[in-house]
Amino acid sequence: MANFETVKVETDLLILGGGMASCGAAVEAAHWAKKNNLKVLMVDKAAVDRSGAVAMGLSAINQYVGLKEGDNTVEDYVNYVKQDLMGVARDDLVASIARHVDGSVHLFEKWGLPIWKAEGGGYVHEGRWQLMINGESYKVIVAEAAKNHLGTDNIIERVFIVGPIMEGGECKGAYGFSVRENKFYVFLAKAVFVAMGGAVHVFKPRSTGEGLGRAWYPPWNSGSSTYFTLKAGAEMTCQEVRFIPVRFKDAYGPVGAWFLLFKSRATNAFGGEYMVERRDELQNWQPYGLVKPIPANLRNWLGMLDVMEGKGPIYMRTEEALQKIADQYKDDPKAYKKKMKELESEAWEDFLDMTISQAILWAASDVQPEEKSSEIAAAEPYFIGSHSGASGAWVSGPEDLAPPEYFWGYENMCTTKGIFAAGDATGASSHKFSSGSHAEGRIAGKAAVRYLVKENPPMPTVDDSTIEALKAKTLKPLDLFEEHKGFTSQTDVNPNYIIPKMFMFRLQKLMDEYAGGVGSQFTTSKFLCERGLELLKILKEDAEHLGAEDLHELMRCWENVHRMYQAEAHVRTILFREETRWPGYYFRADFPKLDNDNWLCFVNCKMDPETEEWEMLKRDILPMS
Ligand SMILES: Cc1cc2nc3c(=O)[nH]c(=O)nc-3n(C[C@H](O)[C@H](O)[C@H](O)COP(=O)(O)OP(=O)(O)OC[C@H]3O[C@@H](n4cnc5c(N)ncnc54)[C@H](O)[C@@H]3O)c2cc1C
Repeated sequence: MANFETVKVETDLLILGGGMASCGAAVEAAHWAKKNNLKVLMVDKAAVDRSGAVAMGLSAINQYVGLKEGDNTVEDYVNYVKQDLMGVARDDLVASIARHVDGSVHLFEKWGLPIWKAEGGGYVHEGRWQLMINGESYKVIVAEAAKNHLGTDNIIERVFIVGPIMEGGECKGAYGFSVRENKFYVFLAKAVFVAMGGAVHVFKPRSTGEGLGRAWYPPWNSGSSTYFTLKAGAEMTCQEVRFIPVRFKDAYGPVGAWFLLFKSRATNAFGGEYMVERRDELQNWQPYGLVKPIPANLRNWLGMLDVMEGKGPIYMRTEEALQKIADQYKDDPKAYKKKMKELESEAWEDFLDMTISQAILWAASDVQPEEKSSEIAAAEPYFIGSHSGASGAWVSGPEDLAPPEYFWGYENMCTTKGIFAAGDATGASSHKFSSGSHAEGRIAGKAAVRYLVKENPPMPTVDDSTIEALKAKTLKPLDLFEEHKGFTSQTDVNPNYIIPKMFMFRLQKLMDEYAGGVGSQFTTSKFLCERGLELLKILKEDAEHLGAEDLHELMRCWENVHRMYQAEAHVRTILFREETRWPGYYFRADFPKLDNDNWLCFVNCKMDPETEEWEMLKRDILPMS
């Protein structure tokens, strides 16, 4: 076995991931832990300052309810989310986040995040729920607060978490390895908080060879949350609810500011507006298709129908939108010029704040948004429970809001005792975005400390043989590579091992062709899913032969194993749900209609951590108590 030091660390609460949800959990848990003399430790595969989906910054905070201002109620937000998810959302979880999210936003502002202000002093809204920010340093600011609360001694960066340490059905912590030095880590913990983001590159991306790595969702989140909770035997929900964002083509620049702030139209190559011309199609998706705002997947769907009919490309009419706003000043040439300049800079800043590559693409292809439209397109599918997807762990709701069926003692605790989750790691509570993920992290962090105080679990112990077995399994790709690397003249092709990149290509091809990726126009069926599962089974067997040249490749190996489990959960759930509920995200060709009589429910799944046998479950959608 590769020569790695084993480092054992004990903590009361272990926070996995250092993203938005974890930073929220850190702030809250550290506060309550201090009062109770408990230790909280955070572990991230990257550097917390710039890790996770907010790493590059954001140009808007997407969830702000405005309770203090009297703008909206918690119920308004619950209704909005449920409508957008075609009726499938947990009211109790969404409400729990909605009543706390403004608090997170106020904290961000207190910590130094510049939020745009209108003349009267109120926040500038991009849309009903969104606030405009100068967000290039958003993550740095949120991370700084987490560090201040936890203390830097309680943060371990550059350690990739592989999975949970399980003995006798109990979670005793987590294991992983440093991506910088030869160290295998064993974290023993009385409670574990999971927030290692969602997953990208499970499906073949639009950008392949020439732009490999470019995706809407950040490439460093690879399904570790799903793998962790599945392998801990936790029940999962909404694994079929992937997210397909329509974004500026090839660099995935955000469209929110264009649609909401600049009120731009999207048209096909013939100038037709699919949202107008295809309005009748919405009748087929009643009641959701007829209520405003129209769900994101249905908006996607109308555009996709145009593309399938050969009416592409689809364009964001940037020049028209800016012109329309500036025209309000057309009688005053000086004011007009000033407004045009202001709009132009806002347009570029929107990208520079969060998707710099889109600004680079515009510059490289001579785009001036005030003169020329830009192409938009539906991206490949992603797993992101915090955005407009909904996949994640099935967690307990809060005692005062959750019906008895949804409550098992502690908010945001998974069905496996002592494991808590938030952000992209929890399901059925989408549209929490950056601010809601932080708020949900705070809720879960506080609940985890309450669990520790109330239940007072002992510090777990783990057999040395268990640790040695996990270590050998984790490092096996390094051993395989070392043993066989001399067999071929080029190390990337070898009959004795498969390198992670090739493994990922195989997974992506399979998902693209059988589970409804870009290449299959997002369409699948029973037969395609069944064939996909057969191929996934063979892929899983071959995962035993992953080979890694160094630490970085070892991380790539495990990232792909995590993706593979996310893929399996997805295909199994799509197969189980015999209807099409989210056209525009995926389409079941053999069940092309919405079926509220049989499928207005959650589809949950569980995997036996030992045998890896799956169980599929239907769960009722219940109102708040
Ligand atoms: C492209 C994009 C644009 C968005 N735009 C907006 C917006 O405009 N406004 C808004 O409010 N929200 C936006 N969001 C949503 C927001 O970014 C997410 O809701 C939020 O980041 C989710 O928080 P999280 O903690 O669950 O995940 P993340 O913040 O992504 O954090 C995940 C963490 O887990 C770590 N990690 C992953 N795997 C491992 C592992 N194996 N071991 C250890 N650590 C691991 C990562 O390094 C990271 O620190 C956007 C999201 C994306 C992807």
